[in-house]
Amino acid sequence: MNSPRVADRSKLIALVCLLLCAGFLATTLISYFASRDSIRASIIATELPLTSDNVYSEIQKDLVRPVLISSMMSRDTFLRDWVISGERDVGQMTRYLKEVMSHYGAFTAFFVSDASKTYYHADGVLKQILADEPRDAWYFRVRDMKEPYEINVDPDLANRDTLTIFINYRVLDYRNRFIGATGVGLTVDAVVGIIQDYQKRYGRTIYFVNGSGDIVLAGRHDEGGERRGNIRDIPGLREQADAVLQSTGGSFEYDSEQGRHFLNVRYIPELKWRLFVVKDERSAVSGLQRALYMNLAVCAGVTLLVLLLVYLTINRYHRALEQMAATDSLTGLANRHALKLLLSQAMRDAARQRSPMTAILIDIDHFKALNDSQGHAAGDRVLRQLGETLRGCLRASDIACRWGGEEFLVVLKNTDLAAALPLAETLRQHIAEMPAGAGEAVRISAGVVAWQAGDSVETLVERADAQLYRAKQEGRDRVCSEAVSLPPSPPPLDTE
Ligand code: GH3
Ligand code: MG
Ligand code: MG
Repeated sequence: MNSPRVADRSKLIALVCLLLCAGFLATTLISYFASRDSIRASIIATELPLTSDNVYSEIQKDLVRPVLISSMMSRDTFLRDWVISGERDVGQMTRYLKEVMSHYGAFTAFFVSDASKTYYHADGVLKQILADEPRDAWYFRVRDMKEPYEINVDPDLANRDTLTIFINYRVLDYRNRFIGATGVGLTVDAVVGIIQDYQKRYGRTIYFVNGSGDIVLAGRHDEGGERRGNIRDIPGLREQADAVLQSTGGSFEYDSEQGRHFLNVRYIPELKWRLFVVKDERSAVSGLQRALYMNLAVCAGVTLLVLLLVYLTINRYHRALEQMAATDSLTGLANRHALKLLLSQAMRDAARQRSPMTAILIDIDHFKALNDSQGHAAGDRVLRQLGETLRGCLRASDIACRWGGEEFLVVLKNTDLAAALPLAETLRQHIAEMPAGAGEAVRISAGVVAWQAGDSVETLVERADAQLYRAKQEGRDRVCSEAVSLPPSPPPLDTE
């Protein structure tokens, strides 16, 4: 009997839960994805290009000028004449290099003669260049290359091995024969500093890549090391490396284990390098993700709260409904349905405890006439009064119910017929004494029976009804039982 209701309740709660969760999830996820898309769009369209612009303008300041200076040195007639005439006065070359260095604020200035393989710098002769010395490989590379110059990042021997960007220009004589290499060097500290600053401030990775994809200059890695190697070694970027290295600039995206990365590439013609500015989506949306989790937690909390409220409300209404279904609204006594349940239980208890039990079926005499003469409302009043009188006369353990119309059924637990009969008689008298308005006293007939093992609710009531019928037959206003029937006692003195 209870289980369908419980199932209904569970279904309703599940439905409310589903609706709330679906609603909350939909709004939370829609706003999350909308925000993420706008963050993505702003990274691609604004943030990365802006960083690239800023780094580029710094680079121009720091790198383009040295390229121009080195170019001028390679075309300098003094330098070429000095070499052609046999590198006689080292002091002249040293002064020249010192002048270039101090005037243009370069970190170092150098010339390497192809004839003598001598490395000159601002403080004099540094060393002789050797073909089998790995550190001198750059010179032989420059000697053989087709381009007029290269940019190379190397430790500077003349300056305690500080990491230096060298602009290595080929020097040609007046008949275009290679006679040496010249140029200036500058420390990468300034550039690396800028890169580092940007990386730290905006959570971006910035590095420079040469034409073959080697990372030539980078800030320090998050993990502390320096980013080195080739872009083809970067997971996710490998597949796009060729396209990236052929482009003069643009936006790219690639995925790695760390998630999605947005890449802005800019070709810097002066250096023949590409500037890479990378931002990974995870760091960009981490705040958003935190907000998402908070939102979901709040939604879960609200859902739970609403479910609890729904559950409590349903339960309250359920109890109220059950009570309404179990009680008679006019008299407030149990109704026939409730009594059947209570009586079944009482019969089981009586059988188990072997205790006696009696039932009294009461019917108002000539109630129709009372209704007809005094009106239905007066009849209702009498029924209410009768209910109160019953309640007043019975013990808490007894059960009284409105069996129907103007019939009442009383069940007395732990009471045998001998004890029940006087009580029925008392009830009859009390009812007769009720202040029933202007009309006559309310009279009742009652049938009293003892519960017998094997009785069902129906057989018990049937037997009581038979006694009630007998009471009606014998003249009403009396109590009849299977054992004895009590004649009516004299009417109370105060009834008129
Ligand atoms: P008797 O039992 O003595 O044979 O006569 P009676 O007039 O009481 O007989 P009957 O059972 O035929 O009439 C019962 C009347 O009770 C009829 C019906 O209109 C009235 N009645 C039933 N329920 C209500 C109720 O809730 N309120 C009122 N006012 N009257 C009711
Ligand atoms: Mg009746
Ligand atoms: Mg009646």
